[in-house]
Amino acid sequence: MSQKFGIHWFRRDLRVIGNTALKHNWKANNGKVVGVFCFDKDFLSRKDFSHNRFQFFINTLIELKKEMQELGSDLLFLDVGPELAFKDLLTKLKKSDFLPSIITVSRDYEPFSRKRDAKISELFKSFDIEVNTFRDHLLIEPHELFRGKVDLGYKVFTPFSRKWLDIFMSDKIQKRILDQKNSLARINSKKKIFDLNWKEIDSSLGSDTLIEYSNKNLKNVTIEIPQGGLRTALKKLDKFKELINSYSDKRDFPSINGTSKMSMFLKNGSITVPQIIAYLDLDFYEKKDKSGTAVYFSELIWREFYYHVLYRWPEVEHEAFMKKYIDLKWENNNDYFQKWKDGMTGFPIVDAGMRELKETGWMHNRVRMIVASFLTKDLLIDWKWGEKYFMETLLDGDLAPNNGGWQWAASTGCDAQPYFRIFNPWSQSKKFDLEGEYIKKFVPELKDVPSKELHKPILGHASYPEPMVEHSVQREKALKMYKFDVL
Ligand SMILES: Cc1cc2nc3c(=O)[nH]c(=O)nc-3n(C[C@H](O)[C@H](O)[C@H](O)COP(=O)(O)OP(=O)(O)OC[C@H]3O[C@@H](n4cnc5c(N)ncnc54)[C@H](O)[C@@H]3O)c2cc1C
Repeated sequence: MSQKFGIHWFRRDLRVIGNTALKHNWKANNGKVVGVFCFDKDFLSRKDFSHNRFQFFINTLIELKKEMQELGSDLLFLDVGPELAFKDLLTKLKKSDFLPSIITVSRDYEPFSRKRDAKISELFKSFDIEVNTFRDHLLIEPHELFRGKVDLGYKVFTPFSRKWLDIFMSDKIQKRILDQKNSLARINSKKKIFDLNWKEIDSSLGSDTLIEYSNKNLKNVTIEIPQGGLRTALKKLDKFKELINSYSDKRDFPSINGTSKMSMFLKNGSITVPQIIAYLDLDFYEKKDKSGTAVYFSELIWREFYYHVLYRWPEVEHEAFMKKYIDLKWENNNDYFQKWKDGMTGFPIVDAGMRELKETGWMHNRVRMIVASFLTKDLLIDWKWGEKYFMETLLDGDLAPNNGGWQWAASTGCDAQPYFRIFNPWSQSKKFDLEGEYIKKFVPELKDVPSKELHKPILGHASYPEPMVEHSVQREKALKMYKFDVL
């Protein structure tokens, strides 16, 4: 059997609708396209691996396979790591004289993925297969944004966002948004658009790999895993449409459901930034515009900023962006770290955040900032410890924004908050959870404590600890630690 067909290699672009790479393949091969996903043992054995996030990923893959089959194609799971998996697969296909004409992929910007892609493209070349790569989850790619010379990346968010918005207004990008809008309108179509499945190619291909992975992983899952996929993400966006105008007023209050909850869908490409922009009709905004839509749009640009930073300075994955802070003398007290992870610090707002994370796999952004500041500047623990723990527990754990968020809070990063601006956990708590609704939800032993008592040390409680440190003392220690390294 010899006919022209293509393979789309899914990685973190887990959807059909608005998948530019897949669409290109589909057009080039008249609908004869099949999908491949490779479980990569190197990735799965990373130190910051999360069983919960992996289960969310698997659930999304299950949805994707179902969708591919409904549309007339199929998704094959390979489990020996992409290099070996593709080598075996392509060797087998070559023997039956049935090699794909092209392989398409969506570009990935993390250091691990860039190395993998550079290596594997050599393999594809050796089989004489053309590889076509496309942008996907970012609207504007890191290499498209530069200060004067192409090799100069942006270190400060405001000029980055100005340049980003300039490019956003270009015809090319506006067309891309329009394309996404048009494809989203076809979200409920069940028309068979593909015309090839793996069984037709080789009946021996295909196994229960996905289900095996799922069954094995489920044993280690500790929280309820939400439903994945583009349709679920869009339902959430429909609800968020009603809230977006008040986003700027409400986004900082953890007891209010005022944010979009898109991060975990963005992480695995169930949805992308261009799709969110298209779906919510987000448009150019002026810097002084503080409306809900403008502020929401700017948060999406922050996400792209942190990808830009990681792409331009991949070393931030392992060290402080600001060189002078690489060797800060952290105290790194293990006992303190455990109390922070357990939500038993004696600071109710910190404990509520850490328990929300453990119980749900998500934490409100304002509280992420509070607990990160507390870990680094009150407990004097290295931000990398907190970053890793977040990756182990967050359903949206995503290297670029996680690293950016931690380095921002620790004042070591690109456009971070200055080291002398140290959050006071008591005043943060009073400002953003005055009535203590959020605290009482996640620290139920405090439900009978009057709200105004939650924003100062709680002494002599039967089951809740007293503050493990004194904020004013720790603050001075932190200032000394940072100053010492600056001199
Ligand atoms: C210490 C720390 C760690 C973080 N770790 C992660 C992480 O691992 N993964 C992750 O996606 N985000 C991370 N963030 C950013 C932010 O907290 C989450 O993106 C946000 O809380 C997700 O909720 P949402 O989708 O409802 O956000 P919304 O407020 O609805 O915002 C919409 C989208 O904008 C982006 N966004 C919002 N705030 C930020 C921000 N501060 N930085 C970058 N992008 C942002 C996200 O993609 C988000 O989904 C971290 C922030 C901090 C301070």
